[in-house]
Amino acid sequence: MSEDLTRLTAADMAARLVAGTVTSVELTQAHLDRIAAVDGDVHAFLHVSADDALATARDIDARRVAGEDLHPLAGVPIAIKDVVVTRGMPTTAGSKILEGWVPPYDATLVERVRAAGLPILGKTNMDEFAMGSSTEHSAYGPTRNPWDLDRIPGGSGGGSAAAVAAFEAPLAVGTDTGGSIRQPGAVTGTVGVKPTYGGVSRYGLIALASSLDQAGPVTRTVLDSALLHELIGGHDPRDSTSIAEDLPPLVDAARRGASGDLRGMRIGVVTELDGDGYQEGVRARFAESLDLLRGLGAEVVEVSCPHFEYALGAYYLILPSEASSNLAKFDGMRFGLRAEPAEGPVTAERVMAATRGQGFGDEVKRRIILGTYALSAGYYDAYYGSAQKVRTLVQRDFDAAFEQVDVLVSPTAPTTAFELGAKLDDPLAMYLNDVATIPANLAGVPGLSVPNGVSDDGLPVGFQVLAPAKADDRLYRVGAALERALETSWGGPILAQAPELEVKP
Ligand code: GLN
Repeated sequence: MSEDLTRLTAADMAARLVAGTVTSVELTQAHLDRIAAVDGDVHAFLHVSADDALATARDIDARRVAGEDLHPLAGVPIAIKDVVVTRGMPTTAGSKILEGWVPPYDATLVERVRAAGLPILGKTNMDEFAMGSSTEHSAYGPTRNPWDLDRIPGGSGGGSAAAVAAFEAPLAVGTDTGGSIRQPGAVTGTVGVKPTYGGVSRYGLIALASSLDQAGPVTRTVLDSALLHELIGGHDPRDSTSIAEDLPPLVDAARRGASGDLRGMRIGVVTELDGDGYQEGVRARFAESLDLLRGLGAEVVEVSCPHFEYALGAYYLILPSEASSNLAKFDGMRFGLRAEPAEGPVTAERVMAATRGQGFGDEVKRRIILGTYALSAGYYDAYYGSAQKVRTLVQRDFDAAFEQVDVLVSPTAPTTAFELGAKLDDPLAMYLNDVATIPANLAGVPGLSVPNGVSDDGLPVGFQVLAPAKADDRLYRVGAALERALETSWGGPILAQAPELEVKP
């Protein structure tokens, strides 16, 4: 049997393309075949753009033969979360209200991906408007975890994480407002990075909460994330919150980390993000990883961030407030679904009500109600105002912590993947999955999740690294060092420990 190209890392695919031992058409076709074979079970994709991907692949192969100077990732296929707009390719954000909508423009990050010549395999499944931790709030049905098809792949970006974990794509883009890149990474055994706020353009992202949203890489290795981050990141004049500076050297940092030397690195364990509420196996793997980091020369100390305890509460007031305002544009007039009232006069207001009533799912409605309530005149100070004060206190905790240490670390998620349906009727239980990831979004600092073993239940767990704003390079250095040390102890990448999916002919 010929070699399975989908098992390579993106960096290895890129190297083989440059060496001329594989073509982009071969790589792209191998991934389209893999999607056809397993996505009926996994359901990572909402839309597969086979023709578009193969056209890009052919173009890149021809340009390479012609001796053109190409981007290092040219020809390596990628999947994009369906909350990112793509010209000529359906974009639903996992919602019925956008069913059939085909955007007239590309997000900046998509423009960069296309300009660099990465074939876009398709759009990945997600919780509706990125609200959720399990992908079960998708209006198009859940994605399943490749490690165990009865379990959730995390959320909201479960589709991107599952696609990468199931070898349907070597690279994917996700978005992270409270953990939606990192938590899916943790529960699927993949790497996910939320860049510094303003580090990757938000132009063309369907906004959930504009002050928290960031797009970032989803991959199988830390180096692959660095390669993708450098491609999609950097200043964009079309996003007013974009940082007008070059990114720090991320690929270099990942390579340096992989050499296994962390001498001089001060690592802070966040006291508040460990302990009760974290699954035993998650805690055990976390403690072992700290030992490995010490072994590489890092100094590991404990750091208290006392206000992190209130971060989840503040987030669930700030996020719904911003979301209720951002989602007001879905009015049945401009995009996607338009529903008319079942009876009575067809006024603009009644069309809006009917469209939103039918087009939005329960979780979206719940957050719109919460947000409009928190912002209402009589309650603004008590809820939204207080939450903003807590946000400042969380930012100050980070500032004080980063005076003492270079990076902070914690488990990424409190538990491994739970069973589909287990938390669907309990919003608070669902929200608690992001207890460790949310503080970074409130403060705008970058975070990375790298797989650090399997728990007693045989399911993967993740290790989170947090760095000061604009110091994303530190994530890659520590992440790559830990990844290398762990792989040495396991004898290979973590996904080699996942059971094989049944392949449909
Ligand atoms: N799970 C969190 C929420 O439901 C995070 C979502 C996200 O990062 N997009 O809000």
